[in-house]
Amino acid sequence: MDYRREYISDLFAKAPGTQVSAFGWVKTRRDSKGVTFVQLSDGSCFKDLQVVIDAGALPDDELKRLTTGASVRFGGEIVESPAAGQAVELKATEVEVFGDADPTNYPLQKKGATMEFLREIAHLRGRGNTFGAVWRVRARASYAIHKFFTERGFKNIHTPVITASDCEGAGSMFAVTTLLEQGHPDFPAKLRQTDFKEDFFGKPSYLTVSGQLEAETLALGLTNVYTFGPTFRAENSSTSRHLAEFWMVEPEMAFCSLEGDMNLAEEFLKVVIADIMEHCGPDIEFFNQRIEPELIKTLEHVVSSGFERMTYTEAIKHLEGSGESFEYPVSWGTDLQSEHERWLTEVKVGRPVILTDYPKDIKAFYMRMNDDNKTVRAMDVLAPRIGEIIGGSQREEREEVLERRIVEMGLPIEAYWWYLDLRRFGSVPHAGFGLGFERLLMYVTGMKNIRDVIPYHRTPGNAEF
Ligand code: ATP
Ligand code: MN
Repeated sequence: MDYRREYISDLFAKAPGTQVSAFGWVKTRRDSKGVTFVQLSDGSCFKDLQVVIDAGALPDDELKRLTTGASVRFGGEIVESPAAGQAVELKATEVEVFGDADPTNYPLQKKGATMEFLREIAHLRGRGNTFGAVWRVRARASYAIHKFFTERGFKNIHTPVITASDCEGAGSMFAVTTLLEQGHPDFPAKLRQTDFKEDFFGKPSYLTVSGQLEAETLALGLTNVYTFGPTFRAENSSTSRHLAEFWMVEPEMAFCSLEGDMNLAEEFLKVVIADIMEHCGPDIEFFNQRIEPELIKTLEHVVSSGFERMTYTEAIKHLEGSGESFEYPVSWGTDLQSEHERWLTEVKVGRPVILTDYPKDIKAFYMRMNDDNKTVRAMDVLAPRIGEIIGGSQREEREEVLERRIVEMGLPIEAYWWYLDLRRFGSVPHAGFGLGFERLLMYVTGMKNIRDVIPYHRTPGNAEF
């Protein structure tokens, strides 16, 4: 057996009469008037291959083993299918069963299983229609992102997963330590001691909440770069949009202002979504039918319409005058909640909105200060149905202003010596953004819970698998 073999997706293009082998897992099996029909899937495409086994074509004791979940190879001939729904099917003359799946306890046979139940058997759920489609879309989206940046001259860089600087001063972080390993009897009291000399890195270290600061250092040399890697936040709230471990796409561009950043974000979303729609048609069709009825309509709309651009201050005015009774009140200076973001995109504008120029106090220290000294050159891309999908900014490139902001926000200035160096030697206007990969996947699949667009989710209380 070699990996260079045809997938089921290839078999649909074969001319009737061709002899082929089909490898996969049995999805369903149905017997009627001496003929057995097996729906076979190998995950290569949404459609299953229909395998027809005529009476007497295969030995009875092999036939018995063809139950949902069993892994098999069928050999036979591609024939025109008389049934509606497929052009060709496989008339089997050979079968090889690799692994049985006992029908009395195979967990994935229940029809109409809930998403919650499927999460408990996350190791098997990818064999079903919904999650097969999610993982294929996830793979294509990842490829489309690398393709988008590479074609535009962005260099893919890898930023550290372990960091000793809480770069944003924002996200709660996970500690990385070997004190536990060293078997200190007074762990975690040991951790509370201010001196981390005995710990692995000799100072407090954490899992990264963003690769941005390091990406900035490489952009100021390579001009346009991007990272696409795992990111960690100890968000102790169980929302449907937050994970403790998620994947983030972070482009960073030298010689670029906030306008360029917004243009990139808009083009990025349009091109990546169009690519997924083109290459995952049947999967998206399925999501549209079974998960989110407005999906294709809204995705086509995003691809073809210009994103609205509006300042935070304007947005607050619209929200205050909306007449809606929000759970969280809005006023200038407060951070927008998901309900506000959704109202702006879904009710007010009816398409994605890019909000800019947020109050400095609700944004990170590195965002470029506007002349009003109250707002910064930040931008968030808000999308109908899910709210914030991208957060970005033009970075503060002026050394004195940046220093002042670090101090004002109570951050340890010594830790930022290398970050400040960028402003001392050859500083340039630069900008970038962060996109939560799983938020994008929620958007393009219509899946309602972020736990269902990553194979194994890490959330408060859950690190199974
Ligand atoms: P939110 O307000 O939704 O928590 P944020 O303001 O904390 O987002 P940023 O720090 O700007 O987000 O991070 C950049 C992007 O990463 C966000 O736009 C979002 O797409 C994504 N993101 C942030 N936190 C999470 C998380 N816990 N799980 C999944 N994606 C996330
Ligand atoms: Mn957050």
